[in-house]
Amino acid sequence: MTLQRLNEIKKLLNEYNYQYYVLDNPTVSDQEYDRLMQELQSIELSHPEWITPDSPSQRVGGEVLDGFTKVEHQRMMLSLGNAFNDDDLRAFDSRVHEQVKNVEYVCELKIDGLSVSLVYEDGQLQYGATRGDGTIGEDITHNVKTIKSIPLSIDYEDDFEVRGEIFMPKKSFDELNEQRKKEGVELFANPRNAAAGSVRQLDSSIAAKRKLDAFLYHVPMALDMGVQTHQEALEFINRLGFKTNPNNRICQNIDEVIEYIQEITEKRESLPYEIDGVVIKVNDLERQERLGFTAKVPKWAIAYKFPAEEVITKLDDIIFTIGRTGQITPNAVLEPVRVAGSTVQRATLHNEDNVKTKDIRIGDYVVVRKAGDVIPEVVKSLKERRNGSEVPFKMITVCPHCGSPLVRKDNEAAYYCLNEHCDYKKIEKIIHFASRDAMNIEGLGEKIVEQFYNLGFISSIEDIYHLHVHKKEIMEIEGFGQKSMDNLIEAIEKSKQNSLEKLLFGLGIKGIGAKMADILSKNFKTMDCLLETNQFELTKIKDVGETIASSLYQFKTNPANIELLDHLKELGLNMTYLKDTSVLEESIFNGKTVCVTGTLEIMKRKEVKEYLARLGANVTGSVSKKTDYLICGRDAGSKLEKARNLGVTVLSEEDFLKEVNV
Ligand code: NAD
Repeated sequence: MTLQRLNEIKKLLNEYNYQYYVLDNPTVSDQEYDRLMQELQSIELSHPEWITPDSPSQRVGGEVLDGFTKVEHQRMMLSLGNAFNDDDLRAFDSRVHEQVKNVEYVCELKIDGLSVSLVYEDGQLQYGATRGDGTIGEDITHNVKTIKSIPLSIDYEDDFEVRGEIFMPKKSFDELNEQRKKEGVELFANPRNAAAGSVRQLDSSIAAKRKLDAFLYHVPMALDMGVQTHQEALEFINRLGFKTNPNNRICQNIDEVIEYIQEITEKRESLPYEIDGVVIKVNDLERQERLGFTAKVPKWAIAYKFPAEEVITKLDDIIFTIGRTGQITPNAVLEPVRVAGSTVQRATLHNEDNVKTKDIRIGDYVVVRKAGDVIPEVVKSLKERRNGSEVPFKMITVCPHCGSPLVRKDNEAAYYCLNEHCDYKKIEKIIHFASRDAMNIEGLGEKIVEQFYNLGFISSIEDIYHLHVHKKEIMEIEGFGQKSMDNLIEAIEKSKQNSLEKLLFGLGIKGIGAKMADILSKNFKTMDCLLETNQFELTKIKDVGETIASSLYQFKTNPANIELLDHLKELGLNMTYLKDTSVLEESIFNGKTVCVTGTLEIMKRKEVKEYLARLGANVTGSVSKKTDYLICGRDAGSKLEKARNLGVTVLSEEDFLKEVNV
């Protein structure tokens, strides 16, 4: 248990958080994530002096995506503590009883979607926001309005906030992925990511098509409204027209909770939406208030998480796949088996060392795990079921596609095909370039790329931008009509305008994932600047280490890469970071805490707040020592007085408009 391990886990969890919350595209299972989080928490428990405020254990998940207006939550939107077994549930029950007596619980299904806060004023929906980092979320009102079960107006006049979960029903998810498969577009890993990916879109026509739904489960101000219990709050919102989950149940003690969980576990598969556990909440609101919160979770609630689903099947064969970097991965070919709601025939074996350590042989019965999402994996082989006919694993020595000798790099478990002309490497490179988190070329998914490659229409990234030349031939391919061709050409053209980080990620430079591409683009603004910078300068940037610097060096010293970039430039691809940071840098509000009060004449208060958020300000609802500016309209009251007492700079509406050149 070392500090090094702690930092390793923190780095991994931060990367996973980014993929999950920002890109809506997880690369590990929730169980793997939870296991690492538990390891982190247990190290931090033994070494509290190592806990830093930015540790993943101390933070509520997400970040706000660029392009969205920021919304400051009136009350923090927190995560939930986790329980993985009966002991954890009983420990939670004991903690609760240490502080309050005569507790009754409400058990609810833990809907696997993304949380939303809905705010109403004068009975009208004002906005809907994601949880974000718990304090600031993204304004997703335009998409929320497309969800039919969310009322746009309610019969309640006071300011009102209700929270719940937006989700995609299993049926809509299957239909969506079926459609995406036909279009050759990357499939969503699970309904949660599909829902998050739909709601966090700037274009509301996408969410409108995706058949989303919402269950509401929390009224933050219930106690102030005179409501006594959580159950009453649920009944109240139900009467207002919100959808609440019909499976909620009051349990008198923890044994009843455990029985409820067993019942739901059996019912889970037959529900029309995905759940990933059960949430247990103290029913009485005053008791909730007495129990309070930690920085991240309420102490009056806990989420029981279902264990990863594991099944046993036979491993028929081991085959090898190649990635865009030339990395060779062994994969298990399985007798088809149903696990976590889908049929699995392949599972990753990661690398040679993993297969050898676990002694997995062809013909073995193996335990396969699929945590409801991402790639299934072989957990172990059942040696007691061997009959002697099993064949031990042997790593291949040459590329299965081009026959070049494979090379195992120092300090790496993986083998690589280093042949630049290997067809499969080329195909994988193009697939990666066109993928959603890279250049996002809709209609150019895995199957289509492979087909186009085999037909000779594309053999490199540049060829994507010459695809129109093959228009006629492509339209002769079955299922490829005028419309899909037009859409594809349009998507390709549109990709030329992408901001630098998308292109940089798309180039597939070793070690430069989506987040690193973003960091580099933000810092260097243009491709030329990035490539002109020396390794020493590069490593001065936070998060950029020797490995990235040397990887970039190798990239730019290969003439073929420079030629590729020159061609892409000639073809009109943007090589500049487009998120307009110059506006931010110049603004006096960037990074400052700003409050707005009084009646404004020219702009609406909401507009001013949104504008400030876009300029990088932290917009708050009250004045404190931390406030840098108070923007003040007519008839300002106590906030103005407080600002003056605290020496906060006060700007009139006119001053503000001058400052922002409006
Ligand atoms: P969580 O999913 O463990 O629980 C909190 C959330 O549950 C709430 O924010 C709310 O959105 C939801 N919820 C659903 N039904 C609810 C109900 N009836 N009442 C209250 N809340 C309800 O916590 P989280 O912070 O959203 O996410 C952390 C979890 O996400 C991790 O434990 C992990 O499983 C997963 N995760 C996975 C990855 C990955 O790479 N696979 C990365 C980050 C997080």
